[in-house]
Amino acid sequence: MPNDSTLSESLVKGRGSHFCRGCNGTKLFSALNLGALPIANELLIYQESEIEKFPLHLHVCPECGLGQVADVVTPERIFRDYRYLSSISSTFLKHAATYVEQRVQEGMFAPGEWVLEIASNDGYLLKNFLKHNIKTLGVEPAENVAAVSRSLGIDTVSEFFTSQLAAELLQVHGYPKLIIANNVMAHVPDLIDFIKGLSTLCGPETQISIENPSLANILLGMQFDTIYHEHYSYLSAFAVAKLGKMHGLQLFNVEDLTIHGGSNRYWLSKFEGDDFQVKRVEKFIQSEVSNGLFNSEEWDVYSEKVTKILNDFLAWLRATKETRGRIYGYGAAAKASTILNSINIDRHLVSAIADASLEKQTRFMPPNGIEIISPQELFSKEPTDVLIFPWNIKDEIAEFLRRNLPSQTRLWCAIPNMHEVGIR
Ligand SMILES: [Zn+2]
Repeated sequence: MPNDSTLSESLVKGRGSHFCRGCNGTKLFSALNLGALPIANELLIYQESEIEKFPLHLHVCPECGLGQVADVVTPERIFRDYRYLSSISSTFLKHAATYVEQRVQEGMFAPGEWVLEIASNDGYLLKNFLKHNIKTLGVEPAENVAAVSRSLGIDTVSEFFTSQLAAELLQVHGYPKLIIANNVMAHVPDLIDFIKGLSTLCGPETQISIENPSLANILLGMQFDTIYHEHYSYLSAFAVAKLGKMHGLQLFNVEDLTIHGGSNRYWLSKFEGDDFQVKRVEKFIQSEVSNGLFNSEEWDVYSEKVTKILNDFLAWLRATKETRGRIYGYGAAAKASTILNSINIDRHLVSAIADASLEKQTRFMPPNGIEIISPQELFSKEPTDVLIFPWNIKDEIAEFLRRNLPSQTRLWCAIPNMHEVGIR
């Protein structure tokens, strides 16, 4: 596997490789080394320019079950070039609306009870509570995004969630009935402080609902392209149970969701679950253990499989380029960056990558500068083959592409292995 590392001061070396960021354990093992890769959302400004690379090496702590990148790139460096790009798909919006309806229908809220969402984005989820007259509060650090949320009538605090902010919120608002933290815990450098904050705001009746892509899916679903520098942590039920307990929280339920290609929804509280729930959580954790999530030998086999997938992907690109000619990509997002940089792709193999974001259309995909174009431009090129990189919403993208591309164009995904997406 690749390659040379370009270390810089932005890398917090050492500690991450030896100490678990969840439990401080020292038995971390190497799960998958992807080599030195650019920060996933960074694109080249000029086709020929160089991009800074950092080691991307997944480790697993067998003591608490937390997956984590070993050498941590500082948040200041990761977010230096980070601009908010609204990419919430119709799949996610529907998922959010369904979640809210379920909570309301099960009678979670008595009059006056309220909901807190951490990383509430532009209010895409909380807005669904408004029509039920349930009070909401969002925490969203990006000021421009928080402003969108406020314009919908959602009270939004524009700060990072920390244990200190949690104490301040508690003083002003009291305990919420529900705390939602979806797709945020992976991005938090100080996971323990975040969990402490959750515990601070968790009253005797509060329920905490956390959704995150699961470590199990990285292993079992071959989803190595969801490993990015900005994803510091990779959760398992074992990790959430153990780390929660260290800070006074009980994992009382786990749900297996299909969203994001396989996420878990963890329910935490200060109270114990009933017997049925306790058994369900135990069974869930047991299945993680028996699937080898915390076993280094299982990850050794996995690393070999990933190498094979990358080799097969490269072979497919070369063969298809030779026989059919016009390969394009769709979705210049983080997943594309991980897989293309992992094979150090030659830019002539993929003619261009289409993306709806205007900002991305002026840039190039590293490492070797594949052009990023608009979807309209893609349609005018009459590609023979299109690679869909965001496989978690491949059906939605495939439907869009099929409406606009010649009938003979083939659509592909490379994860979990090279396959054609739906055949007309
Ligand atoms: Zn640990």
